[in-house]
Amino acid sequence: MELYKHQNIKIYNSLTGEKDNFKPINEGYIGMYVCGPTVYSNVHLGNVRTFMSFDVIFRYLKHLGFKVRYVRNITDAGHLENDADVGEDKITKKARLEEIEPMEVVQRYTVDFHNILNTFNFLPPSIEPTATGHIIEQIELIKTIIDNGFAYEVNGSVYFDVHKYDETNNYGVLSKRKLEDLIHNTRALDGQSDKKNPQDFALWKKAEPTHIMRWPSPWSDGFPGWHLECTAMSTKYLGDQFDIHGGGMDLKFPHHECEIAQNQAALGKSPVNYWMHANMLELNGQRMSKSTGNTVNPDELLSGNNKFFSKAYTPSVIRFFVAQSSYRSILDLTDDGLLASEKGYNRLMDGVNQLDHLKASKTSTLDIATWKQKCYDAMNDDFNTPIVIANLFEAVKYINQIKEGSATLNATDLEYLKTTIHAFVYDILGLKNDKTEAGAGTDKLSGAVQLLIKLRQEARVNKDFALSDQIRDELAEAGIQLKDGKDGTTFTTN
Ligand SMILES: [Zn+2]
Repeated sequence: MELYKHQNIKIYNSLTGEKDNFKPINEGYIGMYVCGPTVYSNVHLGNVRTFMSFDVIFRYLKHLGFKVRYVRNITDAGHLENDADVGEDKITKKARLEEIEPMEVVQRYTVDFHNILNTFNFLPPSIEPTATGHIIEQIELIKTIIDNGFAYEVNGSVYFDVHKYDETNNYGVLSKRKLEDLIHNTRALDGQSDKKNPQDFALWKKAEPTHIMRWPSPWSDGFPGWHLECTAMSTKYLGDQFDIHGGGMDLKFPHHECEIAQNQAALGKSPVNYWMHANMLELNGQRMSKSTGNTVNPDELLSGNNKFFSKAYTPSVIRFFVAQSSYRSILDLTDDGLLASEKGYNRLMDGVNQLDHLKASKTSTLDIATWKQKCYDAMNDDFNTPIVIANLFEAVKYINQIKEGSATLNATDLEYLKTTIHAFVYDILGLKNDKTEAGAGTDKLSGAVQLLIKLRQEARVNKDFALSDQIRDELAEAGIQLKDGKDGTTFTTN
């Protein structure tokens, strides 16, 4: 029987402001949509944190046996402008290749995005649709919203009529804002806008001559408003109503509020049952921002080539660091925090590496079934990864007790302990084992090191300590540590 039938999941729902019991629309199936990146620049570390949170959620739901369709879009229909002086520069006119080709930009940053996510061991989503691939769907959606009386056209652009919508619906249902307050707090525009009201948002924008990305529509040659693509793609692949919609906290308003309004206006339904928002990532207690220079990109963090951190950190250490906070908390990226996480990660992996050396006993003195359920309970409680990690450290304690002989497990319990640790560390938290990867990944290395261990042993028997020390020291220089214990010599890699 599927694991999920035994687990009661609660999800903090931004719509209700509470932890709600999770019940999918169709039993056993989950539709999940997460707003993806805009691929006009390198992916921001804050976005990586958001996507990492949803990667763990996706992994857990799959682990429980749900059939999850996870849709994460690529925003590629952007607002790229060609700032070359139109008509004046003949060279630019002639040299097509010297102009910006938008899809070349899109391709470059999409590849960058995928590389970063692969480095961090993300699972790919089930579908990764692009905004430019869904222009027809977006135009159809606009037509429906106009037909239903919630949008109007002015000078080739189409705007969503927020005031009209709010008469029969609640604009602000997600972000808990009130339209009156929004009106009060919006400064009057300088009169250049075609909008009836400043709160209205664009569904279609007529393209200026400098705007490169443009498509024909019933209203003008132009491009869709940003909020629209997510409504078009989420309903296309997940239906008019689906289970989970996620994104960064900064998308709650206006982006997600507008998505709800578009769905209600077009289809008469609230699209999503559980709205989830991942919190922000800060750097040394302050907002990351390019303009203040308080920012580090994923590459710089991984290479150590930056002014904020004392060293390079592996993708798994960074994943571990992120998982040590709830996705709903602000996460402060600091060198001390990462160093502490690295220590914790190493301690955990040392424990994991001991698992295969543990011997089963006739009886168990530890309650593994209860411990195992505590790991699930933590994830069931709004995907509380810090508590999962606390439970994994509890298991490291068990491992050490078993090793020392102060606790025992029978064969069944030992197997439970092993499979549960592996499931949570590798499948759910998505960590890789840096400490054995080089060795365990290639049996050849392991074989070669074993041979050197044997030669060193022979040297010691022959009292050739110069040679035995040389073998140990040169291996250490190559990043392979030998450890002499009462059961012989073992090695670790770093
Ligand atoms: Zn979106």
